[in-house]
Amino acid sequence: MSIYTFGDLLEHFPFRHIDRTSITRIGEIDPATDYIQVAGILEDMEVLGDNRSKRLIAHLRDKSGLLELCWFQSVHWAQKNVIAGKPYLVFGRVSFFNGKPQITHPEMEPFEASMINGKSYLEPIYPTTEKLKARGLNGKQIGKLTQVLLGMLSPRDIHENLPQTVVQQLKLVPRYTAYTSIHFPASVVAYNEALERLKFEELFIAQVRLGLTRLQRYRHSKGVLFEKVGEHFNTFYTKYLPFTLTNAQKKVLKEIRTDTARGKQMNRLLQGDVGSGKTIVALLTMLLATDNGYQSCLMAPTEILATQHYNSLNELLKEMPVNIELLTGSTKVKRRRQMLQQLADGSLHMIVGTHALIEDPVQFKQLGLSIIDEQHRFGVAQRARLWAKASIHPHVLVMTATPIPRTLAMTAYGDLDYSVMDELPPGRIPITTVHRNEMHRIRVMDFVRAEIDKGRQVYIIFPLIEESETLDYENLMDGYNHVKAFFPEPKFWISMLHGRQTPEIKATNMQRFVQGDTQIMVSTTVIEVGVNVPNASVMVIESAEKFGLSQLHQLRGRVGRGSEKSYCILLTGAKVSTVARERIKIMCETNDGFKIAEKDLELRGPGDIEGTKQSGVMNFKLASIVNDKALLETAKIKADELLTADEELTMPDNLVLKHFLAMKKGKTAWSRIS
Ligand code: ADP
Ligand code: MG
Repeated sequence: MSIYTFGDLLEHFPFRHIDRTSITRIGEIDPATDYIQVAGILEDMEVLGDNRSKRLIAHLRDKSGLLELCWFQSVHWAQKNVIAGKPYLVFGRVSFFNGKPQITHPEMEPFEASMINGKSYLEPIYPTTEKLKARGLNGKQIGKLTQVLLGMLSPRDIHENLPQTVVQQLKLVPRYTAYTSIHFPASVVAYNEALERLKFEELFIAQVRLGLTRLQRYRHSKGVLFEKVGEHFNTFYTKYLPFTLTNAQKKVLKEIRTDTARGKQMNRLLQGDVGSGKTIVALLTMLLATDNGYQSCLMAPTEILATQHYNSLNELLKEMPVNIELLTGSTKVKRRRQMLQQLADGSLHMIVGTHALIEDPVQFKQLGLSIIDEQHRFGVAQRARLWAKASIHPHVLVMTATPIPRTLAMTAYGDLDYSVMDELPPGRIPITTVHRNEMHRIRVMDFVRAEIDKGRQVYIIFPLIEESETLDYENLMDGYNHVKAFFPEPKFWISMLHGRQTPEIKATNMQRFVQGDTQIMVSTTVIEVGVNVPNASVMVIESAEKFGLSQLHQLRGRVGRGSEKSYCILLTGAKVSTVARERIKIMCETNDGFKIAEKDLELRGPGDIEGTKQSGVMNFKLASIVNDKALLETAKIKADELLTADEELTMPDNLVLKHFLAMKKGKTAWSRIS
């Protein structure tokens, strides 16, 4: 159970308590009684029956009546350890046998004068394992160890690690008290106070750590300086920007501008809902780099996406004296060699690409900015490699695919600067989302046909459900044949995308759909992230119950990008689990990615949210970013206040915290990673 030290044992917290702080009179037991605690004298003991039905029967008497105690197992043990004539405190579940109350396998301990009102604390029950139980270390036994340990400790051993001002302002119980009371609380109130204190401590310490990491970066990192907004940016902004920026886009650009102009490395997380227009923010930032003599790169998780980004940026920049190229796994050797040459001599200003960008031979003359789109597909270590491409680390802008709940962003990415774009470009018509089942298939397909007749295009998405690629492939082919039966050539043309195709085939199939040569795109989730075909107005998701919430939201984001009314149809079987039904309901109710993200976190728990497992800061023992939102907010506010006033933690009141952090150093992984 990962318990190696006394400290580990102390932090092995009970998951519930049993209230044995009162004693019931035997005469008051009635058939509705469940677990009870009684105290009395053990009158007699006698073994009844032979081998199989052998049992030990005893009787306990108090002033009000008589209770039968019974053992079928551990008869020997009971005979040896339970002695007739002595007083006992007895706990167990009551059953009625021949109209008389009885406890089978009661818990017994010698009665002492101090137990006159039962125990003075709530009794803890701990998580344990089957293996340990078999060895006699059950959920209660562990408490015996903890009790002994606590008996050996004093407030000097578990001393305060929070500044007194914080403890006082928030009326927290002292740390020693908290540890004692979380295991052996005198009352429910005492337990709750202990829990609150320890949860706050966890959250607060994590926030202080993240804050210190952030400050460290400001203070010690040397950053590329983007001093000026120049020719490129201004020309593009005034002449070629195809629309007015939203206020959210302007705000984020301002934040980036401030960040990159102070000689420190920027590490910024840009959160925006699907379709909020992150790409243009990326491009404007890249132009800022160009203006200051630096190269920039934009990295996307798939070849389709990288290609699409390249195409749209290239189109936007076509009148501009900016050199931009695309580098992916399928770039031809000769072309690639040329690009690498141009990157090295500085004549290539911008490069868009996939993982190919982080391969070793790719060397920049002066890389000043790395933008990572649809962040969650990249591993932490991969991102770190992008940094190493320049002697002064380039500015890093990470753009998320879907919104992350605020509490999650605060904990998992709390060491990053953080921008939110919570506004969609004007004129978007909200997507209508509906849930249909198998029985409605024909009507759904009729609807799809009607949309195609109006000149629209349609996605039909199939899930990856099996472990085996072959099975998935067969599933998709089945689906494809079904679709084809509804939409025969030559009136209708269908593109298909799946993971087994070569990049060339994928690109061709995608291209045919983008150009409108095909009206239907049948695909697995390879289409998921970022793809932009404004004429597509219907998204049909097959077996929608098999998709996660954020994935559904991402997929839906593929439509509603043009001027037409768009629809998302979630098709399921007749039987859908409660959780899946909940997901589908949320999808039908809202288009707001931030709301969906919150709900996703509630339904799945933080451990399952993509990209958070690798983050050490999420390993809270007691606190939960789902259930303790308010406490987390408070912890963040207090941590920020503290660091603003005393970032070196040298004030006397903060020394205990400083020592504590120094002692625990090295326990947070990945704190420096973008
Ligand atoms: P995402 O944030 O999902 O990556 P994109 O950058 O792909 O979104 O933008 C979605 C669409 O919105 C694109 O077609 C883009 O041209 C358009 N767009 C972006 N910003 C604006 C704006 N301020 N006004 C109008 N349309 C915009
Ligand atoms: Mg995008």
